[in-house]
Amino acid sequence: TTGKPDISREKSAELYEKAKTYFPGGVNSPVRAFKSVYGTPLFIEKGDGCHVWDADGNQFIDFCCSWGPLILGHNHAKVREKVVEVIQNGISFGAPTALENELAELILKHNKFIEKIRFVSSGTEAVMSAIRLARGYTKRDKILKFEGCYHGHSDSLLVKAGSGLVTFGETSSAGVPKAFADETIVIALNDKEALQKAFEEFKDQIAAVIIEPVPANNGLLLQHKEYLQYLREISAQNGTLLIFDEVISGFRLGFEGAAGYYGIKPDIITYGKIIGGGMPVGAYGASTQIMDTISPVGPVYQAGTLSGNPVAMGAGIAQLTELLRSGFYRDLNAKAEEFAEAIQRFATARNYKFKVFTIGSMFWFAFTDKDIRKAEDIDPASMEKFKIMHRELLNRGIYLGPSGYEVGFVSSAHTKVDLEKAKRAIFDSLDLVFRG
Ligand code: PMP
Repeated sequence: TTGKPDISREKSAELYEKAKTYFPGGVNSPVRAFKSVYGTPLFIEKGDGCHVWDADGNQFIDFCCSWGPLILGHNHAKVREKVVEVIQNGISFGAPTALENELAELILKHNKFIEKIRFVSSGTEAVMSAIRLARGYTKRDKILKFEGCYHGHSDSLLVKAGSGLVTFGETSSAGVPKAFADETIVIALNDKEALQKAFEEFKDQIAAVIIEPVPANNGLLLQHKEYLQYLREISAQNGTLLIFDEVISGFRLGFEGAAGYYGIKPDIITYGKIIGGGMPVGAYGASTQIMDTISPVGPVYQAGTLSGNPVAMGAGIAQLTELLRSGFYRDLNAKAEEFAEAIQRFATARNYKFKVFTIGSMFWFAFTDKDIRKAEDIDPASMEKFKIMHRELLNRGIYLGPSGYEVGFVSSAHTKVDLEKAKRAIFDSLDLVFRG
């Protein structure tokens, strides 16, 4: 197998050079800089359905979908029309609007896990606020997180594990005071013993355990249901709140996200951009009792000029209305499952050391033969193979997020024909990786 010739990136390269004079590293969010894959980052000009086009006119089938929220694909007519309708009346008031009620009702009516919600403007903000809420509610300071789970870039959460079973977090970023990291305990996923030990060692000190119930920011590290149930139990026994960070899994696995999928009720749930149809939105929700700890009712302060922004609410209303249509998730998940299975069958038949981890409409390509359930099981050297694959897939018109640690998303806009085309390109790229 020989690789396809590289696509033209002339215009993207020009834009990138300019961007480097304006932004650190030429980007407004680091992964976009293509640091762990080949070549200059592609500057995207437009998206429609499952396709995106870059500045050089290259067309791709997109499996990044703005990192997940575009579950209906790009430029969905219903979402666009609602946004256009809303902006006729102005774009921001910093005052309540009926649109907030409407979106909240859509969510709460169809979600048995939360009773009240608050809208914010990003996943980072949602999680940061949920942590403050948990600390305010329990009157405890420490939080426990898992290595390999990403929860946005707020200070308490930018910490990773050191060695040993239970450790204090070590910051993952300069600029995070050690004192903050000291309040964050980090343990490995899928490890009951580490969990028990943490609760023993920090008895009555842990305000919240936070987890992505479907960890999807460091590969797709699927957890056993029993483990998540254990997490629920041990948190409750210790007076610790369980936070499900569903910024990715929420409204993706199903309308009730991972909580609904596993049938586990966390104490607080955080959501992200998917509830705004891809607009800048996040949210956190819980029982009325817990939520009423938030200002202006309770003592925990949290606010935002753009919170509940009408344009974002409008996009969210349009998108979630589509998701509630009967059979939406059944069809989407069946399509994605068929796609992932076909790729796995191909790789297995050829004895390639390659696995497709998948759940619902999310998938992750891993160059391994192991059953990966925690961050340390991922071999960093395998990322070299992803790099070859990523370059080849771009050359064959398939856009994956620019890192082997990122998951892919199938949207309802991906047709069977698109997925067939993508499969063939993926098969060819695997042949190139393994046979050269
Ligand atoms: N939590 C999770 C689980 C995420 O995946 C992300 C980012 N995708 C965040 C929080 C942060 O969200 P944002 O980038 O919108 O701030």
